[in-house]
Amino acid sequence: MAKEGLTAFGAVNRYFEEAARLVDLDDAMYSVLTSTYREISVQIPVRRDDGGLTVVRGYRVHHNGARGPYKGGIRYHPTADLEEVRALASLMTWKSALLGLPFGGAKGGIQVDPTAMSPAELQRMTRRFTNGIAHLIGVYRDIPAPDMNTNAQTMAWMMDAYSAVHGYSPAIVTGKPLDLGGAPGREAATGRGVIYVLESHCERHGRDLAGLRLAVQGFGNVGSWVAREAVERGAVVVAVSDVAGGVRHEKGVDVARLVEVVAGGGTVPDTDQPGIDHIGNEELLESPCDVLVPAALGEVIDGENAPRVRAGVVVEAANYPVTPGGDKVLADRGVEVIPDILANAGGVTGSYFEWTQNIQQFTWKEARFNDELRDRLRVAYDATAAAAAELGCSLRQAAFAIGIRKVAEADRVRGYV
Ligand code: NAD
Repeated sequence: MAKEGLTAFGAVNRYFEEAARLVDLDDAMYSVLTSTYREISVQIPVRRDDGGLTVVRGYRVHHNGARGPYKGGIRYHPTADLEEVRALASLMTWKSALLGLPFGGAKGGIQVDPTAMSPAELQRMTRRFTNGIAHLIGVYRDIPAPDMNTNAQTMAWMMDAYSAVHGYSPAIVTGKPLDLGGAPGREAATGRGVIYVLESHCERHGRDLAGLRLAVQGFGNVGSWVAREAVERGAVVVAVSDVAGGVRHEKGVDVARLVEVVAGGGTVPDTDQPGIDHIGNEELLESPCDVLVPAALGEVIDGENAPRVRAGVVVEAANYPVTPGGDKVLADRGVEVIPDILANAGGVTGSYFEWTQNIQQFTWKEARFNDELRDRLRVAYDATAAAAAELGCSLRQAAFAIGIRKVAEADRVRGYV
């Protein structure tokens, strides 16, 4: 997608540029870090259940691998083109570096509407795609994970397709089912991590998470866990939406009920709580609340609708939900933005825990997983807030600046640049 004259990758590079100025990056390093290292585009013929054939396109992009094997999710979505996948791969580079994880940045995607496909068709497509990128992935080379419209089942198929050739390889993907080497805690890690980061932010500003009113866009893996964890801590989820529309309840949407409705195949507007109002997706973003959590698509808050955002804090659970134009408007209005590379880093951090457990063939209890996750996100939040204060910049610029410094140093000391 492109907004405000920038492709998604152009927009992420705009954020990169703003931070690169703060760390005095030299021109050579600048050129390396604003482009991707390696890209593959593969044809994926999918045999349909009715005997027909649909040909779709898949991508895997390696942005930078100076700090470790490439790491990043795979999304199935009609907008998942090469520019979007590049943007998301770049964000992974900065996110892993900010968290101090030994990973580079990657992302993958298939440009397809998976909601129109049967489970058998999805399985055939996933296996074909895995075969198409098999020479690029590897336990110490590139480790995919779930993202939009992919889940533990998708990872199980990928692992099986890869293991059929290379032998049993659970560490080839993360976000797997528990019976296949998945880590207890990983499924919730991104959404739970968003709440850990928000807790750190509240602590720093002397606020209490309990009682805060949240509006959450998206009720998939990330959004549903954000809502559950928020309610568990006494926050009130006043509005939720998904692709089908949204709901709002001043006293709080019944999140447990919503989880049941969605698990049963329903959508957010299907929930049957008494006194609930139905709202549109745009309305959700402009809904009165203390904290707005976009947890679905990219580019949903831009220069046009940012003036109408009524939250005091925007927590970017989704990747790249705020365009540079939207970011500027929010900053001018004093709306604090906790950037994606910090806010949703619980996902890749949880994936790191799963990967290390697979390699060691050792399993942690979920309590240990959550404690480690909280600690690492707290350290990253504190470092980002401290850098923002020191550099006199936004949390986004500070988070990028920390990531850029680490990646540039790794590229330099390895002799790559
Ligand atoms: P998901 O497929 O589980 O859920 C996506 C949700 O977004 C669904 O509820 C869907 O209905 C909703 N949605 C789709 N289009 C929408 C629209 N136009 N308006 C409103 N809602 C819409 O995906 P996910 O894994 O929860 O990922 C959500 C976001 O979080 C993505 O931006 C992803 O890149 C990011 N993220 C995910 C992870 C992870 O571990 N899964 C990690 C980091 C970041």
